[in-house]
Amino acid sequence: MTNEARTPSDFVRNIVANDLRAAKNGGQVITRFPPEPNGYLHIGHAKSICLNFGVASENGGRCHLRFDDTNPTKEEVEFVDSIKEDVQWLGWDWGEHLYFASDYFESLYDYAVKLIRDGKAYVCDLSPQEIREYRGTLTEPGKNSPYRDRSTEENVGLFEKMRAGDYDEGSRVLRAKIDMASPNINLRDPVIYRILKASHHRTGDSWCIYPTYDFTHGQSDSIEGVTHSICTLEFEDHRPLYDWFLESLEIFHPQQIEFARLNLTYTVLSKRRLIELVAKGYVTGWDDPRMPTLSGLRRRGYTPESIRNFCEKIGVAKRDTVVELALLEHSIREDLNHRAPRVMGVLRPLKVVIDNYPEDQVEEVDSVNNPEDMSAGSRKIPFSKVIYIEREDFREDPPKGFFRLSPGREVRLKDAYYITCVDVIKDKDTGEVEELHCTYDPESQGGQTADGRKVRGTSHWVSAAHAIDAEVRLYGTLFSNADPTGEPDDPLDAETGIELNHQPDGQDLAAHINPDSLEILTGCKVEPSLASATPGSTYQFLRQGYFCVDSVDSTPGHLVFNRTVPLRDSWARTEKFRG
Ligand code: ATP
Ligand code: MG
Repeated sequence: MTNEARTPSDFVRNIVANDLRAAKNGGQVITRFPPEPNGYLHIGHAKSICLNFGVASENGGRCHLRFDDTNPTKEEVEFVDSIKEDVQWLGWDWGEHLYFASDYFESLYDYAVKLIRDGKAYVCDLSPQEIREYRGTLTEPGKNSPYRDRSTEENVGLFEKMRAGDYDEGSRVLRAKIDMASPNINLRDPVIYRILKASHHRTGDSWCIYPTYDFTHGQSDSIEGVTHSICTLEFEDHRPLYDWFLESLEIFHPQQIEFARLNLTYTVLSKRRLIELVAKGYVTGWDDPRMPTLSGLRRRGYTPESIRNFCEKIGVAKRDTVVELALLEHSIREDLNHRAPRVMGVLRPLKVVIDNYPEDQVEEVDSVNNPEDMSAGSRKIPFSKVIYIEREDFREDPPKGFFRLSPGREVRLKDAYYITCVDVIKDKDTGEVEELHCTYDPESQGGQTADGRKVRGTSHWVSAAHAIDAEVRLYGTLFSNADPTGEPDDPLDAETGIELNHQPDGQDLAAHINPDSLEILTGCKVEPSLASATPGSTYQFLRQGYFCVDSVDSTPGHLVFNRTVPLRDSWARTEKFRG
């Protein structure tokens, strides 16, 4: 990942460069990517991954992968494994530096005891509801807890008993003693430890008290010697709290830098929302090709390079913006244009019999694998008397501007012959076109004619006797409107300004789900070279888009293709238009 063609520049990289010039942190750059293992990674995480790993690698530093696993009730090993796989798939390497916040539980406990001994933390017996009421609002200060002035000795004793499991969940918490009148609600004696009688995926039943995310995150960074703790903007208001912890504990103080999270049109990027999509069955799982997860994008046919290029294109800024989904699609087209072999696949087949072609003859025509990359070579495709063309490439009454096949008209078959339609066979009952009869010009092999006459239309085709059956899945956006949630990812309680992260949702995503996000075509016909197509491999089906062999449902006997994207690039077009 070193030697990038060009190194991006942004405000985060400028801060790091200035620190290096000032020889801060002994000239070291240590960053980290800190996921909570409560879901699969999505394209927004890719932005953070590319930033953290990128900044480290550009500066000869290192980036840690650290799981912020402080919530035993929502976290699972499945998520840890998928996150590791996805980061590696994107092409980044944490080397030796894989960490878990849960490995620091003992140190964090000691830190909490130090705060108690220094008169900076206390055990509070208020109920969660009361804590909320005492907290005040954005416009009104909070009130001190009646337990705020407990003696150090009493606090130490109570906290030990909390750890020993003597109290019920919800009966007591440990809180930092800061300022109930602070204009920053995060500083109003935040909870730093709570009782949770739950097994943790790594520490098992060793603990029944768990540190909160806020008490864990900054100290974990400090323990690891992280120099630049890069996070998203919603943590800006938490920074004074993190600073207070680090200063009170008198430990190494990483520098927190906030940047704007990625938002994408037609997409939700909040794990809470993604969990909802999976749980309610709107998708088949985290790796459904319609999901913005890295595993979904991978299954859809996205390459790591395309996602890294996308992350570079969108850049890193301090203000929230919404990026067009079309830009992500542009990135994968740009990449696959160079690497995906061109093949012929007919999605909605129409049978064509070439009347004057010898009955048992089979010819092998030459076809270039990728005109963008002549080193990709060429292959042979069988041609015979009965072929399939795309149903939409024939019109009985061609409208103006339609140049493909119609009665009496001649067109070119890609890399094969010119054919002319001489008869149309229809279903007697429905009137639907069932079969076409054509003649071919034996002198037009390879698309050239002896007399040099031109045709305007070229169709892709497959030989009926040689074609392979395939299932093709076409995707639309999962949501029918560009802004499916109509709210920030982590909504704030209107009254208290506190994140509603773990509150049930009032708004249902159902209203925004696109009922046509998946179209399954069966009986598609693809050229025989695809018999050896392996799961995950990508192709351009001429005129139909980029496709990828499904890595879950495709088998040698039942080929399944996902359409990654159609060919038409709306982003490139509008960019051109914008000049
Ligand atoms: P939620 O979606 O519920 O807010 P999360 O996605 O923030 O959760 P984390 O596991 O905390 O989940 O994320 C790990 C890191 O990825 C954090 O540093 C977070 O700031 C960053 N991150 C998450 N979402 C985005 C996004 N959309 N754009 C950029 N970075 C993101
Ligand atoms: Mg988060």
